[in-house]
Amino acid sequence: MKILVAKDAGYCFGVRDAVNLAKKSGTDFEEVYMLGDIVHNEKVVEDLNKKGSKVVSSLEDIPKDKPVLFRAHGTDPETWKAAQKKKLNIIDATCPLVTEIHEEIKILESENRRTIIIGDHNHDEVIGIAAQVEKPIIISNVEEAKSLGKMKRAGVVSQSTQMIENVQEILNVLSEKVYDLRFINTICFPTRRNHEQIKELADICDLMIVIGSFTSANSKRLTQLSLDRNKNSYQVTCSEELEESWFSDSKSVGISAGASTPDELIHDVINKVKTFSKIKVKETTYE
Ligand code: SF4
Repeated sequence: MKILVAKDAGYCFGVRDAVNLAKKSGTDFEEVYMLGDIVHNEKVVEDLNKKGSKVVSSLEDIPKDKPVLFRAHGTDPETWKAAQKKKLNIIDATCPLVTEIHEEIKILESENRRTIIIGDHNHDEVIGIAAQVEKPIIISNVEEAKSLGKMKRAGVVSQSTQMIENVQEILNVLSEKVYDLRFINTICFPTRRNHEQIKELADICDLMIVIGSFTSANSKRLTQLSLDRNKNSYQVTCSEELEESWFSDSKSVGISAGASTPDELIHDVINKVKTFSKIKVKETTYE
């Protein structure tokens, strides 16, 4: 059996840096506080909690002598101001590619355009982008785009982890509604690479395994991209969820993982998959 592992499976650099910063801050300050989970992965959050990373829902819950870490997917300006006013020690783990989206949407607003964000409602990254401008419109799917009225000028950015297919479909609708439409493609390059790799793997492999939490929109999108091309695709959160029967007729297995899936979970899955093969296994990195 051949195992092809997507080269960019798992942590993107933004999440990896944020998790490392949380670990270091937990060691340096004994405790570090975050407004919500650092990544959408229960195991990572649990492990970090043991190393001093505490999740709170409000700045009020943070002791004065402990730092607050702002997560990779960005923080709204009001929370920044409130933390500065409280004189909290702020450790900023915002991904530079998210900061770029904040800058791009502000530019679109400065051009007197109605701003539109293609992204998941209530996702922390989208909330952070929306807070940069006045009354942006958030659209997650084509139906929502169709319900919009005509507009003279609009500017569009997307959440960093969107699928290009969804963005393109929405843009097609918007182009019929907006006279002067400007789109800045803010899907980040780690997401693009991960999406391209899973599409190619799903086309050439008998079986596809995506590793990631079901609370991670990013992992669910990877699974969707795989399922669209290969019905023999499964999402698991860890190696214990793999079922041997999936592998019985498979000569090639493609493996990828969402941007919030840690390396150890990916290695566990690869090792378990190897035990299912009756013949020699060849593991290759797919670039
Ligand atoms: S998904 Fe992209 S934008 Fe988001 S943290 Fe990772 S690299 Fe940064």
